[in-house]
Amino acid sequence: MHTLHERSLVRDLLDQLAELSDENGLSNAVLVRVEVGEFSGVEPELFESGFEELRLGTAFERTTLELVVVPAIGACRCGHEFRVARSRFVCPVCRDGRVEVVSGEDVVLSSVTFEEPEPVGGGSR
Ligand SMILES: [Zn+2]
Repeated sequence: MHTLHERSLVRDLLDQLAELSDENGLSNAVLVRVEVGEFSGVEPELFESGFEELRLGTAFERTTLELVVVPAIGACRCGHEFRVARSRFVCPVCRDGRVEVVSGEDVVLSSVTFEEPEPVGGGSR
């Protein structure tokens, strides 16, 4: 049950990659960088193993997946931003508990590097 979340995210990621490849007329994505928020509920290891498994039979079998864990940042009404921990959701400056998480809740495709297409024709040395 627990891995379902990661697997559906990996499916979304593969869909996004396929779309990007089509749009740009490129097929070999060599490196994919994904930001995984600390509070996203996603286990990076499970995401990786899901990627290894679900990309089989797709155009991304040789793509390197790089996960970047994004720390959870909270913003307080007083303007202070700070690293939040699940257990301690209080502004360290004014002790206000109404903290809004502004970063670290999402899983985001941050960049894709495509292999340069083979040079076509021309330019003999
Ligand atoms: Zn505050």
